[in-house]
Amino acid sequence: MSDTILRYVPSDPYWQPSPENATKAVSLLETIVPGADEVKSSFEDEVRFYDPGENWSGVECGACGADAEEWWGEAMETASENGFKDLSTVAPCCGATVSLNDLRYVWPAAFGRFALEAHNPGIGDTTEEQDRKMTECLGVSLRKIWAHV
Ligand SMILES: [Zn+2]
Repeated sequence: MSDTILRYVPSDPYWQPSPENATKAVSLLETIVPGADEVKSSFEDEVRFYDPGENWSGVECGACGADAEEWWGEAMETASENGFKDLSTVAPCCGATVSLNDLRYVWPAAFGRFALEAHNPGIGDTTEEQDRKMTECLGVSLRKIWAHV
């Protein structure tokens, strides 16, 4: 059986909230998706890639918009070797230095050391107001990622 996971990941991939703020954010998310199987926060020592699973729809260069799928895998491998401490890479399509976190993931994806997660939230999508409340709760801008795994 497949699962749907809703994740909020800070736009700054290295940022982490205090444990107290993370607990507050979990409580808020629980009120937004009361029917979810599980709502939790996850802290990671190293930056990881939160991919959208089966929702993956490709990736394009953040500088010129060219299809980046061909070189993305290798750039990911190189960056992962040092635990994603450095996300910058030179895009072979146009020679621009771009952050892997700022490529155009056709279906949203993100790098981060922290995520708020709701498993099988049982809703189609959150509203803009709910997204804003989550942002206010954590005090940083967030990316929303719907993953299908
Ligand atoms: Zn390019």
